Amino acid sequence: MSDQQTIHVGGEWRAAATGATREILDPADATTLAVVAEGGAEDTDAAIAAARTAFDHGAWPRTPVAERAALLRRVADLLQRDRESLGLLESRDAGKTLEEGRVDVDCVTDAFRYFADLVMNESGGRVVDAGSPDVHSVVVHEPVGVCALITPWNYPLLQASWKIAPALAAGNTFVIKPSEITPLTTVALVRLLAEAGLPDGVANLVTGPGDPVGARMSEHPGVDLVSFTGGLVSGTKVMRAAADSVKKVALELGGKNPNVVFADACATDEGFDTAVDQALNAAFIHSGQVCSAGSRLIVEESLRERFVAELARRAEKIRLGRGTDKGVECGPLVSAQQLARTEEYVASALAEGAVLRAGGERPTGPAYGEGYFYRPTVLDHCHRGMRVVREEVFGPVLTVETFRTEDEAVALANDTEYGLAGGVWSADAGRARRVAGRLRHGTVWINDFHPYLPQAEWGGFGKSGIGRELGPAGLAEYRESKHVYQNLAPRPVRWFAG
Ligand code: NAD
Repeated sequence: MSDQQTIHVGGEWRAAATGATREILDPADATTLAVVAEGGAEDTDAAIAAARTAFDHGAWPRTPVAERAALLRRVADLLQRDRESLGLLESRDAGKTLEEGRVDVDCVTDAFRYFADLVMNESGGRVVDAGSPDVHSVVVHEPVGVCALITPWNYPLLQASWKIAPALAAGNTFVIKPSEITPLTTVALVRLLAEAGLPDGVANLVTGPGDPVGARMSEHPGVDLVSFTGGLVSGTKVMRAAADSVKKVALELGGKNPNVVFADACATDEGFDTAVDQALNAAFIHSGQVCSAGSRLIVEESLRERFVAELARRAEKIRLGRGTDKGVECGPLVSAQQLARTEEYVASALAEGAVLRAGGERPTGPAYGEGYFYRPTVLDHCHRGMRVVREEVFGPVLTVETFRTEDEAVALANDTEYGLAGGVWSADAGRARRVAGRLRHGTVWINDFHPYLPQAEWGGFGKSGIGRELGPAGLAEYRESKHVYQNLAPRPVRWFAG
């Protein structure tokens, strides 16, 4: 495979039908990291046709579960074999630190192993009591068919794997389209699937832009399900495009995630240090380019000054730089566009009355050169009327709001059109559970922020999406249920007398 042959159709690596290419930039210095094929509608149609043939006539959907699970485990082993090179590639392509890149490979490995175990431990069908000894009635699960998988740029390998592992475990074939900004680890993963022995045509890949590649995948009548992770604007386009052919749609969209801190969580020095440290991590890991970033700090009024002062002090000390350099804690933003967007949100917040406590500008110095760096930013005295509080920035920007009562805290935390994730900090276990129960978010952390488990569903309320990834529901997305009712002693029913 040459650099430009990054389209995978029916087991063959190809360049784009038009010959078009795209440069993939290193966000730390805007130099060219790789050149990939810029696929279009023709490539997309060919990939869908290959997936369709492999589903309708190939062996994979009918392969015994034990063999499918064994393949997923081989992929997991190959991911661990290539942990260092994949972690490095993810770090350079997405701008995250090398350690984050390695952790992503480990999480992805866990996801492949989890779905292998999940399908192996199933009973294979559910017998239903039809009320007669002469009837055998069973509900079975079948693969949904050809899946269109569309992923974003912030966790390219992880998001691809959360879709590919359950899609394969359930016996589907697929076409994946990674973000045009960060396609490199998805290309590497599809190569590993082939190395693990996946039959040709089961896994197909088109590198290219949202329109036409993603748009074509969403509308194509040969696709049975589209599973999309990305922003709200593209997600609604996918849903509209999928409507005409009534395909199944799963959407993992954005978030504007509250991190609620009660003063009692900070009654001790240790509690205070932990809550501040985790609030920093919630907001600024991967420069805030995380769908579940705790970008709204909602802190009890009596604690505000002390908490925000310490948070701002520590935010100023975060070491920015190229993700692969030693000692660097935060990499650049992924693109010039993302940097401009962040700058625009901070400017609008300041114009609307927010008070800058940390950051608020690009770092200066030769280390930052042409890279897309932005300093971790804390904006105090924010309120719901501000765009920066309502909309997803997807950059290192934390807003601060305050509350006086538990009801007020809950109302603020739920006052978002999204509903992906949120955190609650309290030393009072009853209060923490009470508040967690009232939050309209798909994941709630108590006295923590960010951990997720492959066996626990991930997804959002409201405009954060439709459906779930991970857990048993993450497998169910890739299946159809079928009720097979067998009459063991058929007789005429005589409904009609004549
Ligand atoms: P994006 O919506 O711009 O792009 C996501 C993907 O959709 C890309 O592959 C893109 O090429 C494709 N796309 C764009 N237009 C399309 C169209 N009309 N039809 C089909 N596909 C199209 O999002 P992004 O900027 O790459 O990623 C950031 C967004 O992803 C944020 O909103 C973030 O919250 C979200 N995200 C959500 C989760 C989650 O689990 N909920 C995880 C990661 C990222």
